[in-house]
Parts: sequence; C-alpha cells; structure tokens
Amino acid sequence: VKHYLQRTEQYAHLNAFVEVFAGEALARAAKIDKKLKAGTAGKLAGMVISIKDNILYKGHTASASSKILETYNAIYSSTVVERLLAEDAIIIGRCNCDEFGMGAANENSAHGRVKNFADESRVPGGSSGGSAVSVQAGMCHAAIGTDTGGSVRQPAAFCGLVGFKPTYGSISRHGIIAYASSFDQVGTITRSAEDAALLLEVMSGPDNYDSTLKQAKPLAYFSALKPNGPKSLAYIKESLEREGVGEQVRESMLAKIKELQAAGNIVEPVSFEYLDYVVPAYYILTMAEASSNLARYDGVRYGYRSPNATALTSVYKKSRSEGFGKEVKRRVMLGTFILSSGYYDAYYTKAQKMRRLIMQKTDEILNDYDFILTPTTPEPAPKIGREEKDPVVSYLEDIFTVQASLAGLPAISLPMNNIKGTLPLGLQLSAKRYNEQELLNFAKYFL
Ligand code: GLN
Repeated sequence: VKHYLQRTEQYAHLNAFVEVFAGEALARAAKIDKKLKAGTAGKLAGMVISIKDNILYKGHTASASSKILETYNAIYSSTVVERLLAEDAIIIGRCNCDEFGMGAANENSAHGRVKNFADESRVPGGSSGGSAVSVQAGMCHAAIGTDTGGSVRQPAAFCGLVGFKPTYGSISRHGIIAYASSFDQVGTITRSAEDAALLLEVMSGPDNYDSTLKQAKPLAYFSALKPNGPKSLAYIKESLEREGVGEQVRESMLAKIKELQAAGNIVEPVSFEYLDYVVPAYYILTMAEASSNLARYDGVRYGYRSPNATALTSVYKKSRSEGFGKEVKRRVMLGTFILSSGYYDAYYTKAQKMRRLIMQKTDEILNDYDFILTPTTPEPAPKIGREEKDPVVSYLEDIFTVQASLAGLPAISLPMNNIKGTLPLGLQLSAKRYNEQELLNFAKYFL
C-alpha cells in the first residue's frame, strides 16, 4: 500500500484518481497483515484495487465524474465492493472517468482529462480511463470499471493491459450508477488473465438486488484455469478491410492471426453483414436508456442543486443545465427525442430489431467457432483533444467493442504486439454467453 501510495503522488499529474483513500487503505493493510499471520485472510488479501467513480462505496463520494453528483456520498456499498472487501481487497481510491460512463477518451469528465502513461500527449481511452492508468502507471494492482460499450476493453487496449467484460448477468449492478441498464456490466482492468479470473470469481454470482443475474453459484474461475487450445476462431473479415482501420492495427492483427494459426488454431475469415449497424443501434439504445436513467438527477434528490433556482421547475432546469456536462446533455436530449411518441417506432423500435438481428447473427457465428476475434479498436490511442472536436468520429471508433455489448457476450481485450509502431494495441476475443472460463483459459495460455 505504501508503495502504491507513493506512486499515486509521483504520478498525480496523470489525473487518474479523483480521490485516494490513503489513511483508510493503510489501516486496512495493517488489519489484513494480522489476518495473514493468523491464517484467516481472504482470497484477495494484499490486492490493492482502484474503483471507478461510478461504483458506490459506503461513506465515500461517488460522483460518476459529474458536477451533478460532486457532493453525493454513498449511503450503502455496491455488491461488488462488499464482495471485494469480504475477501480482504484494499480499495486505494476512486478513479476518474467519462461523465456517467459516456465517452471513449476520458475527456468528458468534470474532474478533467487523464493522460496516457505510455505517451502523455495521448488519451488513455474511456470511459474507464483513470482506472486503466491507475494500473498502467503502477498506482494499484487492478482496477474495477464498468463496460457499457467497451469502457474497460478500449482503455485497456490503449494502455497495454487486459480488459475483461463478462457476460451481461454475471456481476451485480446493484450500487453501480446506471448509464444504459441493458448494457452496463462491471469489468476489470488487470495485467493478466489470472487476475481477471480471480476478480470474476469473487464478484460474480446471484444477488437479491439484481434480478438480471444468472441464478447459479459462481464458478471457481481462477483455480480452474487450464490450457484448452487449440481452438477455432472466426475473425470478422470486414473488420480489417474497413476504412478507418489504421495500418498499425491491420498489420499487427494479420501477424497475430498467422501466429495463432501456426500454434495450431483454426482462424478463418467470416462475414458479418451487420457491422455498419452496430454503432447506430448501440447509440440509439444507450441514449434512450440514459435519458430515462438520468431523469432522477433533478436537483431535489441527489447532489447538485442550482443556487440560482426559484420556482420548482427552475430547480429542475437550472440544476440539470448547470450540473450536466455537454456530452451528457447531448445524449439526454437525443435519447428523449428517440423515445418521443412520434419517433419511437422509427428509432427505438427499429434499433431494438437491429439488436436482435445482431445478436442472432453473432450467436450463429459462435455456433460454428469457439471465439470471435477482432482488433479492440481501429487505431491506437489518439492525441488529447480529438474527441471534443468530433463526437461522431469517436462514436464510430467503438465499432468493435459494441457488438459484444449489444449481444450481452463476454469479451476480453489483450495486449497485441504492435509491429508497426510503439503504442499499445489490443486484440479482442468474445465467446458464447457464460463461457468465460474458456475465454480466460485461452487468454492465459495462448495469448
Ligand atoms: N464509448 C462508449 C460510449 O460512450 C462506451 C462507454 C462505456 O462502455 N461506458 O457509450
């Protein structure tokens, strides 16, 4: 803990942490030392973890990196925090992110930007950008983030780490500040697949507070890790041919495919005709869900209340106008439009139908192959300031991560050797629902 605390000070300018729980982390470490001596310590004893700023931890602020929740103090802990603490993890602080998880560069945060430790002129990715840098710069051992459409996988790729989003329904969302509830999943950013397996084992499993969870006992993912290859992998043909996929990513991916084939795996191109529709379907549905989820921030019940408000409606209007950032407002307005009676069928219903087709086609591919392989992102981390200029360009870069989110599948991003440059790159593997053990086994022994 002392080592990591020293690093959080040394690298404070990266802006990865919104708050460091120094005193508390040291006190817990002392207690856990005693438990270790007595032989009663839990599975995570000694694991120093950061949590994203949208995960509730009783008695601590959770702001979702928004001004509207700047002063919100959690009155209960999320299920994930309770489970981590029960196994003697040490939570070292809360990490910067895009406001309410909306973004892909950590540039939409009320707490300011985060810098990529590999190249400080570049973004770390998002929305769990601070979480990724907290691990990348050695300020903690592992990070707990959330992934709605790629928010742990994409920053992990930009920072050279392992980002893992389990199947929708694996980990309780109780106490996670909602963005788009039918997509949101807790995920991990670690340096290895083993740590991802261990954290999944601790955090997953049924919870009375989340009815979307699979009602089966969590598996012992960590102790069950074992070599399982060779395997059959489908790579989405269009993913390497599209405009916008940079040379570093394409060439590195092709080299990786050859390497996987040489190791005895079947790696074949498969066509996914809906690739152009995944980003529109994702954004229409998540904006609709976000506009509904964020209606609760009205200046009355939580957080920020405008001091300039007079009548009741002006409390709502002014608190929301002053409390939300630009990107959140854009999405709430678009989401409200999408759900409005005149346009509901044209946008929301259509996108739901598209989601169903994307799911079915993805499942079909996974009936024939063990995994789907794509790059995690079309390009390495962009320079700071790009997202602000053109949000649509940034939305389009989610093209490879949102497929698993629309289909609710488990997906992992692993570091991929960059044969044309020095910046970190990621490859993504997704699997059938609840096949995380296969995915983690393969990630550990083959990649
Ligand atoms: N970039 C995507 C978005 O802005 C994904 C974010 C996330 O997974 N939270 O919605």
